[in-house]
This record gives sequence, C-alpha cells and structure tokens, in this order.
Amino acid sequence: MSNRYGADRSEYAEVLDGIAAPSYRLGQTWDALYKQRTPLEESTSLPLVLRNSLTSKFPLALTEVTRARDTAGTTVKWLWEVAGGAQVETVLMRYPTRATVCVSSQAGCAMACSFCATGQAGFERHLTSGEIVEQVLRAQHDSPQPVSNVVFMGMGEPLANYDATWHAVERMHADLGISARRLTISTVGITPGMRRLARETLPVTLAVSLHAPDDELRNVLVPVNRRYPLAEVLDAASEFASTRNRRVTFEYACIGNVNDSPAQARALARLLRPLGALGSHVNLIPLNPTGGYTGARSDPGRLRAFASTLLDNGVNTTIRQTRGTGIDAACGQLRSRPRVS
Ligand code: SAH
Repeated sequence: MSNRYGADRSEYAEVLDGIAAPSYRLGQTWDALYKQRTPLEESTSLPLVLRNSLTSKFPLALTEVTRARDTAGTTVKWLWEVAGGAQVETVLMRYPTRATVCVSSQAGCAMACSFCATGQAGFERHLTSGEIVEQVLRAQHDSPQPVSNVVFMGMGEPLANYDATWHAVERMHADLGISARRLTISTVGITPGMRRLARETLPVTLAVSLHAPDDELRNVLVPVNRRYPLAEVLDAASEFASTRNRRVTFEYACIGNVNDSPAQARALARLLRPLGALGSHVNLIPLNPTGGYTGARSDPGRLRAFASTLLDNGVNTTIRQTRGTGIDAACGQLRSRPRVS
C-alpha cells in the first residue's frame, strides 16, 4: 500500500475510480494535498466519506514522536518514527513571510563525520521519496508561512540515497511548485553524485561540506575524504558550477583551534580559486555541540578573523546564524533518540 505523499496521481485516480467518485475529485484531492497543503483529514473541500476512504488507503508514513519549539516559536523540530522503527528528524525555520524546511534523507548516516551527531550514531536505513516529501508537508501544516525553500541538510547523506532524493526533488518542484533554485542539496562530497546532479534537468542548488582546507585534516573530520579527496571534490564542484553556470556553496563548521587559523583561511581561499569567475560562497557555521566530539566552536574573534581573511582573499563569505541550538535542532545536532523499551 502506498503512503500519502509517496503515491502519485494515478494511484489516487485508481482509488477514486474504485469508489465511483466523479473525475473532478482527483484535481481537488491533489490541490488539497499540495496547493492548499492542509492535512487531508481537514480538507473540507472533499466530502467526509471520500476523505475517509483516502486517508485509510493512503496512510501517513511518519509518526510523530516529539515536537519541540524554540522560545520564539519560529524553529520547530520533529522527531518521527518511520516504518521499521527507525527515527528521523525534520526542522522548520519560519521567517516573516516564508519558511524553510530542513529534511532528512536517511535515518542515521554512514559518513561518520566526527563532529556530527548523526554521523556519531551510524546508519539505519535510506528514506523513501514519499518519506522525504512528507517531511515538507507535515512541517507546512504547522507553519502559517508558505514553505518556499527546502534544504537537504538534516540527517543523512542525500547523494548516498540518490534516486529517492532526486525523486523527492522532482515532486517538490512539480507538485509543491517550489523553484529548483530553492531546493538545496548538501553533500559531504560524493563526487559521482555531484557530477550526476550537474546533468539533471532541474537546476537545484548545491552545497558541499568542506570543513578543512587540506586532506590531512579533512581525513580526520570527514572520513569519506579518503575515498573522495579534496582535489576530486573541488573538481566535481567546478564541473557543477560551469555546467550550471551557478555558484556552489561550501559549508565550513568552525572548530576552535582545529580548522580556524588565518593560515587555514588562506589555504581555503587558494583551494577555491580554481572555481573561476563564478567564484564560490563559503558559509561558516560555528560548531554546534554534540555528545561525541570534544572540540568547541571558534571564539567570536577568531571566527571574524577567519571570515575577513577569506573576504580579503576574494572569497564571498557569510557566517551562518545559528538557529535551534536550544532544542538540539541546529546543524549537526540531529540524531535519533534511543527508543524507550
Ligand atoms: N550529509 C550532508 C548533509 C548534512 S548537512 C552533508 O554533509 O552536507 C548538515 C551540515 O551541518 C553539514 O554541512 C555538516 O557538515 C554540518 N555539521 C555537522 N555537524 C555539525 C556541527 N556539530 N556543528 C555545525 N555544523 C555541523
């Protein structure tokens, strides 16, 4: 049986046919799901009997375990249980007129980045495209602002679950009407996947998690660097940038006295120089605390110095505002809780 946001139009058509609903109900159902973006149970444009048939034929894939809000109420984090008992998290970030949803692409993650809570916990399973799309809709149901942006920056490595990720991207674009540029895929640097993305029809935004300007340090922080070393990652990023004519974003978690020296900033600028006229954009993320890593975030002065060295060397740089640390919803803090037995 298909789940609610995994089923395509033809599966809904079949069920509606089966209950002899008039043909215009299909469009209405689809609008309720993806245009009005309201829970199907509350979609009063559809008769109750029909709604009941649909909700029982197409159950939700995510069961809410917990929902936490920051004090301002503008960042919300869900912990969901999926089929098989694995747990994943989703974060909603509301702004005055729009909202961004940060989705998970896998339950857990196999990449084992040392400073990331998801990596520390290990891999459980891939999510299906329906499970990924549902995260956006369930967050939307809690947000007065329309979800305009989706970032694949929750749990998991999206390019290690390429097909489900890409299918989810296509659905968000086609059914939710989110523009491809506002769909961001963040990768640890799986280069075959990056090159494949460069050839897809939809021009999504690519973000690459770098965290170190040399292989020696990156091997320690991001173990998959042994398989896809920096030169290879930068080459794939250049291919993406030139094929798409789009600037690539690089994420860099700033860890005090580990990767935040002025010399490392200069090395990072040198590394990014070959990206050419389009240049690049570096997003500095002050390290968020996680249980399994002892490093601390860079102190503010060092962080500012790192940013200005990059800027002085011609690299477009921003320091990412941290949201959600109070509810463990910030970058790198997502992990499943041990199940209560
Ligand atoms: N696997 C993908 C998607 C995860 S995105 C990727 O690696 O890009 C989550 C982002 O937060 C990544 O850039 C990740 O490296 C970063 N991150 C992980 N742990 C963090 C931490 N403790 N503090 C700050 N950023 C962290």
